[in-house]
Amino acid sequence: MIEDKNQARTDLSDLGEFGLIDHLTKNFKINHSSTIKGIGDDAAVLKFNNKIVITTDLLIEGVHFDLSYVPLKHLGYKAVIVNLSDVYAMNAKATQITVSIAVSNRFPLEALEALYEGIETAAKIYDIDVIGGDTTSSTTGLLISVTAIGETENEVYRSEAKPNDLLVVTGDLGGAYMGLQVLEREKEVYKVNPNNQPDLEAYTYIIERQLKPEARKDIIKLLKDLNVKPSAMIDISDGLSSEIMHICKQSNVGCDLYEEKIPLDPQVISTCEEFNIDSTTVALNGGEDYELLFTIAQEDYPKIKANPNFSIIGHIKELTEGLHLITRANTKIPLKAQGWKNFNA
Ligand code: ADP
Ligand code: MG
Repeated sequence: MIEDKNQARTDLSDLGEFGLIDHLTKNFKINHSSTIKGIGDDAAVLKFNNKIVITTDLLIEGVHFDLSYVPLKHLGYKAVIVNLSDVYAMNAKATQITVSIAVSNRFPLEALEALYEGIETAAKIYDIDVIGGDTTSSTTGLLISVTAIGETENEVYRSEAKPNDLLVVTGDLGGAYMGLQVLEREKEVYKVNPNNQPDLEAYTYIIERQLKPEARKDIIKLLKDLNVKPSAMIDISDGLSSEIMHICKQSNVGCDLYEEKIPLDPQVISTCEEFNIDSTTVALNGGEDYELLFTIAQEDYPKIKANPNFSIIGHIKELTEGLHLITRANTKIPLKAQGWKNFNA
């Protein structure tokens, strides 16, 4: 939030396009045998034995992120994570990414270094080769697009959930949305009094969920180790409600979701109380949690029941029975997708 006047500022034009690309990508290492050629030629060359999954996401300043409270290093990290999450949601192993950026000259080299530090950190932690990209100028804000590539022997679609399957979610929900609420509030406070240093101690988990989300690579391995193949799977980027609706719509099924089973971190509950927001609404319609939602056959229940990574939140029904939330008061209400973008509308 605070601009450091002493920070070094190197103009992008000092390096030129090729100098810039070399400078930003010099630390990237190739680890996967499927990468034959990475950065440096007209195109990368890959060689796989398995089926390939590929996914892409575009992040635009002012639409998907606000640089007044998102540090560039975190942005770089998150831009990679959101793509890896999509790869894992296909039950695939992520192996390579490309990174494209459009940047205006209001950004100094040091800003792009921070962005690439985040990208590099994510690539290291998730064991991903960065194999290329594109660099161009923008007249306004920053734009970043990541494409992720992965491989799988056993992809899982959204469309194969069956009546009586169990509905399972990993981790806990609503944290990223509540983290954003705290950051937005602090931004307003800062505008009024720039000297006021916020005390964010009580919100560390939820702010981290917003600024430094993780993708559930571990779950793909865990499911394999447990010998469980989900019938359908999706990652939670837009909120539980709309993701359940995607699975049900594409699988031609209905579902019962139990409010009391939705996993919430204590910090989400206490922050919801503070902001006077209903925590179930936040879990259903908040977004950016990047957990996995999947369905499994009843017979697989013993394999997952003791694992703290998983919450069984409901089950799949026939399409004719509809999609419902069973509230704590035991009333049955139709599930609605609000999507988190128009959550405040
Ligand atoms: P071309 O003119 O063929 O598009 P570029 O000069 O844009 O080639 O890119 C040269 C090499 O650097 C290519 O391997 C490309 O994939 C890579 N590259 C370009 N920009 C980026 C970036 N922002 N991040 C990672 N790799 C990049
Ligand atoms: Mg290019």
